[in-house]
Amino acid sequence: MAAQIIDGKAIAERIRAEIREKSDGLARKGVRPGLAVILVGEDPPSVLYVNSKEKTAAEVGFTSKVLRMPEDTTQRELIAEIRRLNADTEIHGILVQMPLPKHLDEKAAMDEVDPDKDVDGLHVINAGRLAAGIPCLAPCTPKGVIELLKRCDVPMKGSNAVVVGRSNLVGKPVAQLLLAEHATVTICHSRTRDLADITRRADILVVAIRQKNFITGDMIKPGAAVIDVGINRVDGKVVGDVDFDAAREVAGAITPMPGGVGRMTVAMLLSNTVDAAERSLA
Ligand code: NDP
Repeated sequence: MAAQIIDGKAIAERIRAEIREKSDGLARKGVRPGLAVILVGEDPPSVLYVNSKEKTAAEVGFTSKVLRMPEDTTQRELIAEIRRLNADTEIHGILVQMPLPKHLDEKAAMDEVDPDKDVDGLHVINAGRLAAGIPCLAPCTPKGVIELLKRCDVPMKGSNAVVVGRSNLVGKPVAQLLLAEHATVTICHSRTRDLADITRRADILVVAIRQKNFITGDMIKPGAAVIDVGINRVDGKVVGDVDFDAAREVAGAITPMPGGVGRMTVAMLLSNTVDAAERSLA
């Protein structure tokens, strides 16, 4: 039987509606969630992402600010802007749009953001909190993966979860979040031996490796939940890291690409912002 298709678009829409309600509730208490995005330069995909984030944030009732800084902004000017936003009580979430122009230090910029306003969840303090099991703002795409599993009633507790990919952006935080849900987690990467033997034992398989259609049907356990994070452009089309047509014949549930995980990333950015605003009341 073909797998259940996990509809990231529909789930993200429902989450946005829930965030709108939370945001309205906060507004009634006198707090309007505020998201600030810093965009340095005019990299066309970044301009598109930022415009879309600004629009979506306004749709859920947030105050949304975009600070457009010129390409030749210095590190010192960027840091000064981040510090100004850290001190702004009307801003609860700060996002520095990546990539930054080559002359700027991305890591230093990210780590300058107040960890409690780090709605991207990439600050080293938040990575540490996540690893230590302390409540924190978790990275958006990994958080979106967990939310998809929850909302599709995929049992995580006690399950055998395999994460392929170990980046700080996706693989490692997904593994930490699965662990927090009491899954038994294995992390695989480019040096893993006998990868297919490991993936074939996964009840939950999360793939984030930047390799088009890499996971084939015979690498999947029948009935497994497969979450494909990969985004690869092939001949003008976008495909994932999983061979979707073959995998859907074996899996129990699977995310499509597009229309799967990608839709969740911005929804989780909004979720982190509303959470940060809520915490500011405490
Ligand atoms: P990175 O390139 O930073 O990391 C890729 C990881 O995959 C590395 O850990 C690497 O291992 C591992 N890897 C590469 N080749 C293989 C292989 N043949 N077998 C096993 N492991 C392998 O990627 P990201 O984590 O940033 O992103 C992963 C994918 O997710 C990309 O396609 C990206 O576009 C997509 N993405 C999607 C998002 C969304 O919103 N949907 C958001 C973020 C990313 P090693 O460490 O050993 O080199």
